[in-house]
Amino acid sequence: MLREELLDLQKKEVELLRLNTKIKELEEKKKKLMEKLNSIENKILSAKKKLEEKENKLRELESFIEYKKERIEELKKQKESVRSRDEFKKILRLIAKNEDEIIKTKQQITGVETEVEALKDAYEKVKTQFSTERERLIEEIEDIEKEIEAVNKKRERVLSEIEEIKSQVPEEELRKFEEYKNKFNGLVFADISSGSCEGCGMTYSSVEYRELLKNIKPGKTRCPYCGRFIYAKKSIVKC
Ligand SMILES: [Zn+2]
Repeated sequence: MLREELLDLQKKEVELLRLNTKIKELEEKKKKLMEKLNSIENKILSAKKKLEEKENKLRELESFIEYKKERIEELKKQKESVRSRDEFKKILRLIAKNEDEIIKTKQQITGVETEVEALKDAYEKVKTQFSTERERLIEEIEDIEKEIEAVNKKRERVLSEIEEIKSQVPEEELRKFEEYKNKFNGLVFADISSGSCEGCGMTYSSVEYRELLKNIKPGKTRCPYCGRFIYAKKSIVKC
């Protein structure tokens, strides 16, 4: 014999398993959505990074020109106070060299500016292309997080209900219940309201079924085929 509270315990434990599975499924779903979101955000970030790198390059070239201009000014000042013709020629050559470098750098800048414009376009395009999907994913993830939180709360409640039931059942009976669980693949109490045993699947003859229902007592009546404790989940219309 088993006390009826253990049927409640079984129901709560089944519920707990169901909730654990549900949480695992939701976590898995969230993980997949996060991966999608990350991949989209990486695409956007990578376009942004390419643009920024090119803009930095542009700034470098511009400050290089500034530097060269200052250098030319310095050389021009030096030219005023040269003492020899050789030194004068040398400075002129240096000025020409720096001017040459400015011209080359300006040409380079024109190229880089075109690249910057193209990268700006690409960045805007990738942002527009993925913004709707990105927002949808963020919303979906938030919804799943809320769902996980709700299921977790339910799980906490079921856990404390399980503890509550266990605290009311003597140690010895709980041990017996665990033994039955091992013996009966986790299902100690089997519902027979469908006309067959939920545990072993045996369908009862109508005479047998009527007899079983007549005296059914959870924790006492057992399936004649598998030995599980039987009960009727739904109230049966007796004919
Ligand atoms: Zn059975």
